[in-house]
Amino acid sequence: MNGKTLAELTARVLKHRDERDWAQFHTPKELAISLAVEAGELLALMQWKSGAELADYLAQRREAVRDELADVLHSLLLLANDLQVDLGDALEQKLIKDAAKYPIEKSRGQAKKYDEL
Ligand SMILES: [Mg+2]
Repeated sequence: MNGKTLAELTARVLKHRDERDWAQFHTPKELAISLAVEAGELLALMQWKSGAELADYLAQRREAVRDELADVLHSLLLLANDLQVDLGDALEQKLIKDAAKYPIEKSRGQAKKYDEL
């Protein structure tokens, strides 16, 4: 990270949106679609590859990976802003819930869902 806070990054994407008068198009549904589409574009970079081939490909396509991760964050920051969700608080609270679902003593080293632990 470049050291910018979520608030600073949110202000940056809001400026980008406002300069283009795009807020009129950004309903929560459209932003959620954008979030999923951008995550899909990230997945598309990895589709049909695995193991060493995938690792090599991702290393070669580092800029494309960065761009899609940035697109995901862009949509996420706008959606969270518009829904008045503090992402930092939301993450902290969700990690507390997840820690209860996945106690370390049961889940460490396990790739299982909580109801299969
Ligand atoms: Mg994209």
